Amino acid sequence: MLISGGPLDMLRHADMVIVGAGFYGATIAERAANEAGLKVVIIERRSHIGGNCFSEIDPATGIEVHRYGPHIFHTSNMAVWSYINRFTTFTGYVHRPFTVHRGEAFALPINLGTICQFYRRHLTPDEARALIAGQTAELGGREPTNLEEKAISLVGRPLYEAFIRGYTRKQWQTDPRELPASIISRLPVRYTFDNRYFADTFEGMPVDGYTAIFDRMLRHENIYVVLDADWFDLKSSIPAAIPTIYTGPIDRYFDYSEGRLGWRTTEFDRTVVPTGDFQGTAMMNYADEDVAYTRIVEYQHFHPGRDRPKDRSVIVYEYPRSAGQGDEPFYPIGAPSDRSLFRKYKERADKEPNIHFGGRLATYRYLDMHQTIGSALKDWDRMKTTIVQRGRTPATHLQTETVGRFDTLSP
Ligand code: FAD
Ligand code: UDP
Repeated sequence: MLISGGPLDMLRHADMVIVGAGFYGATIAERAANEAGLKVVIIERRSHIGGNCFSEIDPATGIEVHRYGPHIFHTSNMAVWSYINRFTTFTGYVHRPFTVHRGEAFALPINLGTICQFYRRHLTPDEARALIAGQTAELGGREPTNLEEKAISLVGRPLYEAFIRGYTRKQWQTDPRELPASIISRLPVRYTFDNRYFADTFEGMPVDGYTAIFDRMLRHENIYVVLDADWFDLKSSIPAAIPTIYTGPIDRYFDYSEGRLGWRTTEFDRTVVPTGDFQGTAMMNYADEDVAYTRIVEYQHFHPGRDRPKDRSVIVYEYPRSAGQGDEPFYPIGAPSDRSLFRKYKERADKEPNIHFGGRLATYRYLDMHQTIGSALKDWDRMKTTIVQRGRTPATHLQTETVGRFDTLSP
């Protein structure tokens, strides 16, 4: 733990404490420091900033790897795009993954190219629509109530069984008939040959990597980051009057008193292979259930413009499973029992004085990066007047504290 003496003092005199240095916490911190001149202390339990978007250089290859899974930035939200561009520029990377089914590689998301290849014939958009419409008749026109029905309504049973059923069972270890339809709505289906994964206006990879974004957001004399420290261990030393932004798991905040929310996690098996190009693309999904992993990510393909070794590459196999205690929670399961449990916690959270719950863990939602930043910007706009009016510490005092500036504590 880095905190002692001076930093504890900083905590006592902060205008705002933020639990977690992911995109939600970093956005609020940056706004509070730059827009309102507040003195902010961020407490982060991990040894690095960036939350799940943290990226690092693989030492054996020099290739940037995203430690908690591949992150592609995409948004159609102009406010978020302008905001994030203050801290980075983006490459022109466009995500076009593939999926392997019975030894053959198909383009994802399911598009006209995938459909033609699967049925081994050239189909026009109208012909493909008619073919799929004939197959979706099995639903008898009723509204899909689960992931399987939703998928069949979108692509018909043969494509569902080839590309979705096995992958989804591996990803969620749950029968797709018991999963919410909303999960599959994230995956577009197109009757054109457009094989872009995302349909957003803006897309790309940060030119200097993800961690550099956080470094720039938090490098401010009013922002003090404490790494390797769990807020629950420090809570009793922080005056209750200091406004707190909590981005950790909501059930943990209440000591799991109502029960634990269900999450999925992923095991990442990182390995260096003796070839300059292992799979020719960044992301290769594996649709069949007899392959244990869901996908292989080859990170060098996210940045084709960078120098890289010609004789080796770093790849990561992903094995999803349910998250136990001590695992990183990645995907909220959102079963009906989870949803009613979350509602109980949310009711209690709304009554907690002087604390705001934000980000994916505290709101128990799957949020993309742009949604996380967008919600933090909106929440900040709503809360800033109250927080600034509270005015515990005069701004002049804030500017003289330099001992714990972010650069002195970063790893
Ligand atoms: P986090 O990034 O999780 O940050 C929360 C931080 O709080 C963590 O660092 C945690 O250590 C800290 N914390 C928690 N409890 C405590 C405590 N008690 N004390 C101190 N610190 C604490 N989004 C996209 O837009 N594109 C993608 O391609 C994409 N890919 C993804 C792939 C995977 C595998 C996953 C899991 C997510 C992906 N996302 C993607 C979503 C993206 O990761 C999230 O939008 C973003 O990380 C949410 O930020 P956050 O601040 O809410 O949470
Ligand atoms: N999915 C699938 N086959 C694939 C990719 C995705 O069936 O090749 C399904 C799966 O149920 C997944 C969902 O689509 O959970 C959403 O896909 P996304 O790419 O958003 O997956 P993530 O990795 O974010 O869960």
